[in-house]
Amino acid sequence: MSRLVAFAAIQGGYKVVSQVEGELEKALESYDASTKIGFGNTAYFLPVIYSLTGMKCETLEDLKKPLEFARGLLPPHVKGHNHLPYLGPLLDAGMAGLFAYEVKEAIRILQEPDFYTFTEDPDVDAGKIWVGPADDTILRKRGVEFVDGSAPGFAAVVGAAPDAETAKMIIEDYQKKSLYIFCAANHNGKTAVEQCLQAGMQVGWNTRIVPFGPDISSAIFALGFANRAAMAFGGVEPGDYRRMLMYNKNRIFAFVNALGDVGTEWAVAAAGCVNWGFPTLADTDIPEILPTGICTYEHVVANVPHDEICQKSVEVRGLKINVTEIDIPLAFGPAFEGERVRGADLFCQTGGGKTQCTELVKMADMGEIDDAKVEIVGPDIGDLKEGSTFPLGIYVQIAGREFQEDFEPIMERQIHHLINYIQGIMHIGQRDISWVRISKAAIEKGFTLKDIGVVLHAKFHQDFQKIVDKVQVTLYTDQAEVDKLTKRARAEYKRRDERVDTMTDEDVETFYSCTLCQSFAPSHVCTVSPERTGLCGAYNWMDCKASFEINPTGPNQPIDKGKVLDPELGRFEGVDEFIKGASKGAIETYNFYSMVNAPMTTCGCCECIAAMLPACNGVMTVGRDYAGETPCGMKFTTLAGVMGGGASSPGFVGHSKFNITQKKFILGDGGLLRLVWMPKVLKDEIYDRLNARGAEMGVENFADMIADETVGITEDEIMPFLQEKGHPALNMDPIIA
Ligand code: SF4
Ligand code: ZN
Repeated sequence: MSRLVAFAAIQGGYKVVSQVEGELEKALESYDASTKIGFGNTAYFLPVIYSLTGMKCETLEDLKKPLEFARGLLPPHVKGHNHLPYLGPLLDAGMAGLFAYEVKEAIRILQEPDFYTFTEDPDVDAGKIWVGPADDTILRKRGVEFVDGSAPGFAAVVGAAPDAETAKMIIEDYQKKSLYIFCAANHNGKTAVEQCLQAGMQVGWNTRIVPFGPDISSAIFALGFANRAAMAFGGVEPGDYRRMLMYNKNRIFAFVNALGDVGTEWAVAAAGCVNWGFPTLADTDIPEILPTGICTYEHVVANVPHDEICQKSVEVRGLKINVTEIDIPLAFGPAFEGERVRGADLFCQTGGGKTQCTELVKMADMGEIDDAKVEIVGPDIGDLKEGSTFPLGIYVQIAGREFQEDFEPIMERQIHHLINYIQGIMHIGQRDISWVRISKAAIEKGFTLKDIGVVLHAKFHQDFQKIVDKVQVTLYTDQAEVDKLTKRARAEYKRRDERVDTMTDEDVETFYSCTLCQSFAPSHVCTVSPERTGLCGAYNWMDCKASFEINPTGPNQPIDKGKVLDPELGRFEGVDEFIKGASKGAIETYNFYSMVNAPMTTCGCCECIAAMLPACNGVMTVGRDYAGETPCGMKFTTLAGVMGGGASSPGFVGHSKFNITQKKFILGDGGLLRLVWMPKVLKDEIYDRLNARGAEMGVENFADMIADETVGITEDEIMPFLQEKGHPALNMDPIIA
């Protein structure tokens, strides 16, 4: 136990508390004492103060109390040659300093309301790189990851590395371990976040590199986030400081990396963190606090070389991470899932309406394939020029003693997030409407198409051990081969879709949930019934049932549909109950068969989006593969951007292509006969099914009554056509009551 550290921290405590007392006094001179303060959209007040003391700070006046409390915590100065264990006073000083930092940030936000963006991602182009405290929406979305284990914890990085390359190395290491990296403070004016940006990395909650703020006081947002997660998801009551700190010590694997000189202001923060059980590892020669006590192992470890700091931090904090080494030249893991490849970063792409990109998983016999074989048929990426597009067919064959054909769609749907896990590669869509964007950075690091095969082979083995024995991947870039695969895949999709064709929602008591898309759309829950396939088109009721068999704790859970609350709109008691929980309270209810009233939630990978056309008394739908304008005034991409975040948006709903001709399609709004417009490609694709379903509903040749872009792209333009054809929607009850 070092006397010096205690000295610095206690000094720091005095310094910070006094400073902030002065700032508050000044603020009270220029603002009314009743002026509202706070961290934005949150129900947790100033969360560290609130969680530990129960004090609710809402006005400037309210800030006096926690500061008085902090002052009271300050221990007597360390003097003479007293070698007693200093831990008690040290911890108190640390806590006093942290309370003061939180008050300081509240004053800053009052005085400079634009200092932070308060968003998930910073606005780098506008030079606003500090996001500040997370609001409750971000908390709900991200905090749960700390509870369910998808993020084991966080690395609080304060200061800056000696150079951008080093910062990048350290932070990428943490990303690979699925940790969040909470950044605060500067070292001689330099920050790790700016270094990340300099090194071409994307920062923000979406890549788990959170730029909280440029000063040490902004480190308080990391602790505030941890404590709010404990209150929101761990049931810890505000004011129960003992449970709060124990919860963090035992459940949140966090630690501090101090990069740069540790002065008194950092020392007091580090001491404060020991209360949470969060140790500090420094790259400088500061006095260590090695004996264990509050933290799992050591409290402060000095002189850690940069290339060891990640490993050492994980070790000191006692964190067990299952690092899966996948042999590709790029980093890989869930942290990269939300990363985008924007125009300026793009090297080449496939699919997305520009070329054909198709995915197919098929079962194979054991003797038929070689495990781990990855073959490229056609030119690889190395042969491409910047800005190119190319066709791609991803064909995966799986053999396994326990494997069944029914599992194929489930494995196929994994391709989406697994490719997204590769740093610098973005994947959208599924089946024959996939879209893969490859960044320049990925190419520079040596990415080739083979890496997609390596990832799929490794992850299918890891995640589906029980059913997978052999995986072989073939990547086609030869146009004729891609076309051949696509034709075959379409026949497979059709066969899969039709497996539920004769089933009805009344036939079954159990529906299935799908929450696979929550990583992008946190409140989104698909409920899949026989007559409402998942909106991505990749999961129908049968698939979800099989998925539940493979993985009983996975994203597809059985839902006892319970009492039918509304047979027309498709509302079920059991479903409502389930989605409340699965959306973490964001969604209370939704209807299966309506787009007008409380429709199902929509995520970004829907095959189609339907929208109301009030002037035509009907609805339109548009598929991902149509890039043009539509009569609702929005293109598919705009609709997906607005609607695809996981909300239930009355007047709009995401759905699969197949669902259009399923019997329950928007039945509560009049059913298929409401459909007045759709793009021609989609109409052609499902032409026969449209006519068959139309005839069932009493209208012959219905497909020909539906307008498309050759007729018009505004409601005015298509109206005469609908009138001429005698479209049934025109005589229905008004679509909005
Ligand atoms: Fe599952 Fe729905 Fe996402 Fe499809 S769109 S993967 S059904 S959550
Ligand atoms: Zn989705």
